[in-house]
Amino acid sequence: MLGAIEAGGTKFVLAVSEDGLTVEHRVSIKTTTPEETMAQVFAYFDKYPVTALGLASFGPLNVNVRSKGYGSITNTPKLPWRHYDILGDMKAHYPDVRFAFTTDVNAAAYGELKAGAAKGVQDVVYWTVGTGIGAGIVSNGKLLQGYSHPEAGHMLVRRDPRDEFAGFCPYHHDCLEGLAAGPAIEQRFGKPAIELAPDHVAWEIEGNYLAQACMNVTLTVAPERIVFGGGVMHQPQLFPMIREAFKEKIADYVEYPALDDYIVPIALKDDAGVIGAFMLAKEA
Ligand code: ADP
Ligand code: ZN
Repeated sequence: MLGAIEAGGTKFVLAVSEDGLTVEHRVSIKTTTPEETMAQVFAYFDKYPVTALGLASFGPLNVNVRSKGYGSITNTPKLPWRHYDILGDMKAHYPDVRFAFTTDVNAAAYGELKAGAAKGVQDVVYWTVGTGIGAGIVSNGKLLQGYSHPEAGHMLVRRDPRDEFAGFCPYHHDCLEGLAAGPAIEQRFGKPAIELAPDHVAWEIEGNYLAQACMNVTLTVAPERIVFGGGVMHQPQLFPMIREAFKEKIADYVEYPALDDYIVPIALKDDAGVIGAFMLAKEA
């Protein structure tokens, strides 16, 4: 049996599956402290004969297998979790289980690749646009990871001429996340993104930034598909805006797939991370 943990900053999703593609049972628990939350994690998985488990966590994480701190959460602002060795604790509790360990966004990217909007392709960039912005990059069927995991959500973008918002990223101010994650929309216009009309200029500005994100990954990793998920992407009018702005910006310099098949919404919704974690566990 396969297990999955999607460890988020507000909740942990715990799930089990036989084949990795269907969620047989899942629960959601609150993220409080490692002591409290992990006790519930252990109580859950003690009930199932899990042989491989995918652990997909909020980051930043140490994913460098050759380093001493491999398997831990690193510089998170969530203080009880800072430098917590989450993989080490799991391994100590389940010594006979095989583990896969990656970021939450990487797992979602992998889920979309195996069973979602990127099924059948080998190269995909998955963006989540929510409270923050993150990207999972699959190249030649494998998650791209180097010295650390990519943090493409913090790439630099060119400011939209209509935009005077300073940006909310505490590190870089007006990086992509600082200008285009949900809180940026809310702070720029003084109300939650969900309350802005579909024809509000907010979405044109958002489309511009996300189109730049697409251009940058097209030029660096040349994916076959770019998938968008996360709360902000519940606005369907964004998709044609991103495609149009992307086409204009990239100006036919490189070839890319037909736009309607290239820049697409997530298919697995809330299951992407869990299914990705199962599939990574299966292959661990
Ligand atoms: P998280 O990133 O915390 O996992 P979400 O992906 O749901 O959670 O992202 C939350 C962000 O998305 C918030 O900034 C919220 O304002 C924004 N959001 C949620 N739903 C919508 C919506 N339907 N339209 C636009 N923005 C939304
Ligand atoms: Zn940043």
